[in-house]
Amino acid sequence: MTSLWPRIEPLLAKVQKPARYIGCEDGAQQPVHGPHKVAWLLVYPDAYEIGLPNQGLQILYELLNERDDAVAERSYAPWTDLEALLRARGVPLFSVDTHRAAGDFDLIAFNLSAELVYTNLLNCIDLAGTPVRAAERGPEHPLIAAGGHCTFNPEPLADFVDLFVIGDGEEVIAEITEVVGDWKRSGRTPGSRQGVLRELSKVPGVYVPSMYDVEYDGARLASITPKYNDVPARVEKRTIADLGAWPYPKSQLVPVTEVVHDRLNVEIFRGCTRGCRFCQAGMITRPVRERPAAQVQQMVSDGLKRTGYDEVALTSLSSADYSGIDQVVGGIINDPSCSGQVSVSLPSLRVDAYTVGIASEIAKVRRTGLTFAPEGGTWRMRQVISKLIREEDLYGAVDSAFSQGWQRVKLYFLTGLPTETDEDTLGIAELARQCVAVGRKHSNRVNVVASVGGFVPKAQTPFQWFGQNTAEELRRKINLLRDATRKERGVSLKWHDPKATMAEGIASRGDRRIGAVIEDVWRHGGTFQEWSEFFDLQLWEDAMARQGLSIDWYVHRHREADEVLPWDHISAGLHKDFLWGDWEDALAEAGTPDCRWTPCYDCGACTGYGIEHRVASATPPAGGSQGTGQDLSTGGAVPVQLLPRAGAGAPRS
Ligand code: SF4
Repeated sequence: MTSLWPRIEPLLAKVQKPARYIGCEDGAQQPVHGPHKVAWLLVYPDAYEIGLPNQGLQILYELLNERDDAVAERSYAPWTDLEALLRARGVPLFSVDTHRAAGDFDLIAFNLSAELVYTNLLNCIDLAGTPVRAAERGPEHPLIAAGGHCTFNPEPLADFVDLFVIGDGEEVIAEITEVVGDWKRSGRTPGSRQGVLRELSKVPGVYVPSMYDVEYDGARLASITPKYNDVPARVEKRTIADLGAWPYPKSQLVPVTEVVHDRLNVEIFRGCTRGCRFCQAGMITRPVRERPAAQVQQMVSDGLKRTGYDEVALTSLSSADYSGIDQVVGGIINDPSCSGQVSVSLPSLRVDAYTVGIASEIAKVRRTGLTFAPEGGTWRMRQVISKLIREEDLYGAVDSAFSQGWQRVKLYFLTGLPTETDEDTLGIAELARQCVAVGRKHSNRVNVVASVGGFVPKAQTPFQWFGQNTAEELRRKINLLRDATRKERGVSLKWHDPKATMAEGIASRGDRRIGAVIEDVWRHGGTFQEWSEFFDLQLWEDAMARQGLSIDWYVHRHREADEVLPWDHISAGLHKDFLWGDWEDALAEAGTPDCRWTPCYDCGACTGYGIEHRVASATPPAGGSQGTGQDLSTGGAVPVQLLPRAGAGAPRS
């Protein structure tokens, strides 16, 4: 392996933002490669400034480089200007750490957190000089791996990716390294690629699509079954039981150029039990595993000292749900070693868990942006989606914020949800208007931004059977909201392009046939589809037509109860009859309570894996019914006591 830097450096003067490609971040590693070390290239298939802060990638980067038998480097999708130069000069995709060619690594592993980056994944494989289709690769080519939330429906990428990691990556990367290390030491002989893939398919949590036969019954998927007896019929996700055992990243990367989320990020828990039915992340990451409070404070203190940041984000799916969040935030803000200069941001705030206490602590230093996500405009709608936030919860939260001096609050909503009526849609405008009225008690200059996204039903959720709204219907709903808010002083409306929502719908619930569509879009120049300046719906419509596939069938059609779904052989632990029961409850407008504080309703996430919720301090929120009362000061992770489990499909209150 040699560095490509002498060929890359002259190109950087000709591109925007050359700092995207130089590495050199504080925390970056210069690993020493060797013939007996498995070399991983970890790729975030989007621009550097989006990918650099990704915590999942940084965790694996550190863990692999701590091993004696592995090295890991990083790469990001080259922006279009550099891509053109690389292709013109015959320079392949490279790592940013030591500028080695991607094709020299044993594995190229992608982090997939959004479907619209799929064409970038193909582009990166091609730029690496590796055949895009897995079936055309030989022993000389790297193994192409992918992990991240999108892998819970891996089928649209099944023809391009050799192995998918389902669930948490911390433990399974060691097992993959050992299997690939054996292959490497055996000399990667001709014909051995199938052998190593067969071995990898036996690693729990690893899905190797080439080991499965897919059959169709007309347009419908009939089955996905293993080709061999020793390949699992169903791949169960990996779940680390104790987040406290994994205090990573220990050396968060500090970039030398501007990136999103440019601050210290400390993950405070994984998983969510709120049960919002639209939320794939919440469903697939159960159960809740909190990091011990003492460890959070230690990671914050060490990280701030090392990086020099003056802002820390406590990250999770719903940060204010962390037990004892007030004490942790207060501990950070009042830590004398931080000189009272550190601001705390809590991404993903639940309005019903946000208190004046949190608001006043955060406001002591600097007011970071404040975003709440009621998601639905009316209580009826929020019962359907099981986001059980009452108007008074929202108004109380914004009152807390405005009383502490915030002038601007952002509210996230979805439109196109199951059973949504125009009254529900217009409820979004009404909530925003009422929030402005609450704020006016404190200031005349308050502003409420209502940000509206089109709903895309996702795999492994109770809404996986729902037919997505058409782009025209979403546009009509947005126009309703524009009319309703046009003259509202203090309310700003923002919305996501309904055309992009439709393309996301094609990729998110597609089967293996959608792979040809993704390849077609890429071959016609469709990269960076997450970016509005590059997104082109026509490319997706033309590709669907060329492949003889119907957008209506894939995106807008309601699925039936007995239908084989493309991801049925991939398990997030959730029983399919639980999801169907929850879908029926949604149609009946019945919400599901947070199972951390109520009897377990056996969704399967804990029962299937023998893991229970682990909380740092098990004091239930106001109105919660159960908890151990463990003192936060112990900092120890303790399992919440669960009541005897009801059977799957049992009535849920
Ligand atoms: S198994 Fe029970 S306690 Fe665990 S997430 Fe599912 S419903 Fe909640």
